[in-house]
Amino acid sequence: MTEATRPPRQGLLERLDAGLLLCAEGYLFELERRGYLQAGAFVPEVVLDHPEQVTALHRDFVHAGSDVVEALTYYAHREKLRAVGKDGLLEEMNRQALAMAREVAEESGALLAGNVCNTNLYDPENAETHTATRAMFEEQVAWAAEADVDYVIGETFRYAGEAEIALEVIRASGLPAVITLAAGQQPQTREGGSLADSCRRLADHGAAVVGLNCIRGPDTMLPLLPEIVDAVDVPVAALPVPYRTRDQQPTFQSLRDSQDPAVSEGRAFPTALDPFTCNRYEVARFATAAWDLGVRYLGLCCGAGPHHVRSMAEALGRKPEASRYSDDMSKHAFFGTDPGLQQHNRDYRDRL
Ligand SMILES: [Zn+2]
Repeated sequence: MTEATRPPRQGLLERLDAGLLLCAEGYLFELERRGYLQAGAFVPEVVLDHPEQVTALHRDFVHAGSDVVEALTYYAHREKLRAVGKDGLLEEMNRQALAMAREVAEESGALLAGNVCNTNLYDPENAETHTATRAMFEEQVAWAAEADVDYVIGETFRYAGEAEIALEVIRASGLPAVITLAAGQQPQTREGGSLADSCRRLADHGAAVVGLNCIRGPDTMLPLLPEIVDAVDVPVAALPVPYRTRDQQPTFQSLRDSQDPAVSEGRAFPTALDPFTCNRYEVARFATAAWDLGVRYLGLCCGAGPHHVRSMAEALGRKPEASRYSDDMSKHAFFGTDPGLQQHNRDYRDRL
């Protein structure tokens, strides 16, 4: 594959200058639901075991309105693969994920993003882990650069210090960096610092976009955004999980479902979150509210399906290909209004 084979397209910064950038994430959860990935370790072995499923989901998300194809290298890093005894697959998994994402980016004209994430190794008190963390980012970013990505996403960082290492490594490669932090039950970094201050530092050190992703749902992420928007001059990102988190349970790991005895300790995460799933109208309202706050890089993380992405796109004035199939209840046999429908069914609507 050479540079010449890729259709000309605007880069990350040009698209953001023009307005909105929509990025679908959440590959692990969606592929887990589809039966191709194991909850728990959440290692994306699907990239090697069922590449056609990953390619299909890339296409689904672009069809639904994502401007970006994000390579599924989340948790395809040395520490995670070591933990499941699969270190030997590291390079193959990364290169394959990047190649598949590239294929869909090329055919669709979407941006191609590399990805690094929380290492689960980084410990602020242990300088040796900083060196190892940097090395992990360096190998993944190098593979992304070789795949000619448009930019690299560094995401789901609870530690600001780890996010800063990721940023340094991405910037050293010459690629634009989108860096998003993950806010837990306490709306601060894991070091205990301010999210807005951390975002400002990341922006000052060259991040093209900063913000939040994952962990919090729309209702508990939205209140954190104004301070970040005020703190930085670069575009701000917001990619919540599509779950109905709330003040007392602000993260999807803290959501409790006392109704189902099968749910261990009442904790719905990660395999019993279904009853908490946001509907498409809720994520649409988040999209417009975040846009009104000044957020320009929007999307969804773990739990998102293509219907959520389409709904966000439409809420922001887009009409992706999938909008051809957006709902039209006028011809519904019972609830419809079309004069060609059978009246005896329409009369029955309130008894359904
Ligand atoms: Zn996520």
